[in-house]
Amino acid sequence: MADTARCSAGKPGAALSVDAARLRAIAVARPVEQETLALVSAVGRVLAAPVFANSPLPPFDNSAMDGYAVSLADLSGEGPWDVPVTLRIAAGDSRGLTLAQGEAAQVFTGAPVPKGADAVVMQENVTRLGDRITFFLRPQSGQNIRRRGEDVQIRGRALAVGVELTPPRLALLAGCGVTDVAVHRRVRIAMFSTGDELVEPGGDLAPGQIYNSNRIMLGALMDRRWADVTDLGILRDNPARVRAAIREAAQSHDVVISSGGVSAGEEDHILDALRAENARLDILKVAIRPGKPLTVGRVADALFFGLPGNPYAAAITFSQIVRPALRRVAGLCEDPDIWIPAVSGFSYTRSAGRREFVPVTWSQRDQIGRPVLERLGRGASASLYPIAQAQGIAVLPPEIANILPGMPLRVEPI
Ligand code: AMP
Ligand code: MG
Repeated sequence: MADTARCSAGKPGAALSVDAARLRAIAVARPVEQETLALVSAVGRVLAAPVFANSPLPPFDNSAMDGYAVSLADLSGEGPWDVPVTLRIAAGDSRGLTLAQGEAAQVFTGAPVPKGADAVVMQENVTRLGDRITFFLRPQSGQNIRRRGEDVQIRGRALAVGVELTPPRLALLAGCGVTDVAVHRRVRIAMFSTGDELVEPGGDLAPGQIYNSNRIMLGALMDRRWADVTDLGILRDNPARVRAAIREAAQSHDVVISSGGVSAGEEDHILDALRAENARLDILKVAIRPGKPLTVGRVADALFFGLPGNPYAAAITFSQIVRPALRRVAGLCEDPDIWIPAVSGFSYTRSAGRREFVPVTWSQRDQIGRPVLERLGRGASASLYPIAQAQGIAVLPPEIANILPGMPLRVEPI
């Protein structure tokens, strides 16, 4: 392909498609070990084993309303029916009562429904006079009764392996009487930026220097619910320093992420350092724009991601390839499928061969509600302003060189 021949990354070998690269990165990512945690400490963590209910949810048949429990068999003919109220049952009542034939029980929300009752008439639909109620509408069988185990049966699977423990999921487990869960331990991630030109914001820029954008961006992209991040700051373009930093970080972390220095230029030292450390290199080049020189490999037992230095390229390769692999390391099985169908509102002629990610915004929709995309910027991999303004990133298929207004496109919201 013409584009591959003009490869700017200068690394050997053909470029992998974005999907192939993502799958390969996921395949080499191994989930971290597990540990047992109390529910209260487990928010945001990832289940390492399915969880089964210790208790059915709900644990007994109970009323969903304040009202009157009745037996449908008692309601012969047409209403209205006039029934004596002989029991009063509040939430927490432990008497295990039975409803006598032809009678009703006053029940409150969450109260056990007495044996023999098969519907609850809400109190708004009855007229009560002394110890009798009158009502007109025949209740449906089971109306306003929450059945034992209707949410989760006893020993039923409450949650599957590989899901993140969100607040509602923790509530579900608590409701099933679960106290402890097997979760993956936190992922230890080290990250650094490389480049002699980099200065942290707040410092003075000498000629030729730029502020470090990737450090704050990559740090902000980390999912702290299941990751502990060691920020190693800026590494200068010194082969020995780069090599030592990679080796040391790999010894004490599950994942090492760097930015910059992954192309084949003389001041790009990441690849040499990886080779010197006997890294297994799994991905060297991806048919992606921006972000072609992405490198993925394994150093000792750690997974290594060498992101491009250009910030927009670093952002795109992170979202397309690094994040899915990191989620695998964390033990996550769910893959958030977040793209939405859209339609191009712009013309753009480009060289085919790479899947391209374009910052877009939209203010209009077509007849069936798809966003009509406006392109931002000119696709420069160093540009931050367009992605900072964008509502989403449009995905241009590698095989299409001429993008025209009206073409259907995927967009990934930011
Ligand atoms: P490199 O991949 O090291 O050749 O860097 C490619 C381009 O990205 C160069 O223009 C770098 O100055 C720029 N760059 C590298 N790292 C960063 C960073 N952390 N923040 C902003 N720009 C960067
Ligand atoms: Mg550099």
